[in-house]
Amino acid sequence: MTATIIDGKAFAGRVRDRVGAHVARLKEEHGITPGLAVVLVGDDPASDVYVRSKGKMTKAVGMLSLEYRLKADVAQDEVLRLVGDLNANPEVHGILVQLPLPRHMEESRILAAIDPAKDVDGFHISNVGLLSTGQRAMVPCTPLGCLMMLRDHHGDLTGMDAVVIGRSNIVGKPMAQLLLGESCTVTIAHSRTRNLPEVVRRADIVVAAVGRPKMVTGDWIKPGATVIDVGINRTDNGLVGDVDFDSASQVAGAITPVPGGVGPMTIACLLANTVTACCRANGLAEPDGLTV
Ligand code: NAD
Repeated sequence: MTATIIDGKAFAGRVRDRVGAHVARLKEEHGITPGLAVVLVGDDPASDVYVRSKGKMTKAVGMLSLEYRLKADVAQDEVLRLVGDLNANPEVHGILVQLPLPRHMEESRILAAIDPAKDVDGFHISNVGLLSTGQRAMVPCTPLGCLMMLRDHHGDLTGMDAVVIGRSNIVGKPMAQLLLGESCTVTIAHSRTRNLPEVVRRADIVVAAVGRPKMVTGDWIKPGATVIDVGINRTDNGLVGDVDFDSASQVAGAITPVPGGVGPMTIACLLANTVTACCRANGLAEPDGLTV
């Protein structure tokens, strides 16, 4: 069997088109421009690339893009003050503080200072709680993108066996909550899981979010399963995922490539979350299919 490739790049383009169309309607019918503020502390080169690319795409869909770059040694209180100003700014509907933060900052304190209604990363404890109790939340972008692709490929996910490998707060755990919300039977596997290949072989849906190049091989995959590869690993041979694409794609029914799978969906979902936050803030109907 050779798997269907789930083209995240093309899918992300369609999501951005839908966001752009909704932004145009908000401007035309209500005179509102959704705004996204991104805060970058320090000069981590990878974060710099992400922030630039977020700003570019935010503008490309017609939204207001605000960028705040602070020195690595800035006092934490200054970052908290900036977040407070952005919370109060009516032009800003989404706030993202780029992680990781410099060591002297308490990440949890800064994330907790963001107004949950503007928390387009979905990392605020209120949004974590809302998601885990099945209520309307701001949903973390990467798992949201994975779910959109799964829904698009399968339609109804009810009753499917899903294994999420990785239990991080930003990918693994929210991914598991989302799949539970779709009535999947969900297993979260992690570094201490016993007989991992055996656990993964039970899955109709595998989401790999580990950070280990090509760890999941074809012999771990149930024939016909759908494999979503979140991993981004830089190797001497370029970017690779957590899944060994060559062997897994011989067994899976569908698979996301790296690059060109989950990655492009993450920024598209950030834009989707910003437009959703803007609609909620203004009591307007949310665009269809851009959130859960
Ligand atoms: P993390 O380091 O916070 O978490 C990794 C998880 O993997 C942990 O829960 C750990 O228990 C588990 N793990 C580690 N070794 C394991 C093993 N041998 N067997 C089973 N489980 C193991 O990482 P994260 O932030 O969740 O990111 C995971 C991967 O996804 C990374 O490669 C990261 O770069 C990538 N990522 C991609 C996007 C995207 O936009 N595509 C977004 C976020 C993260």
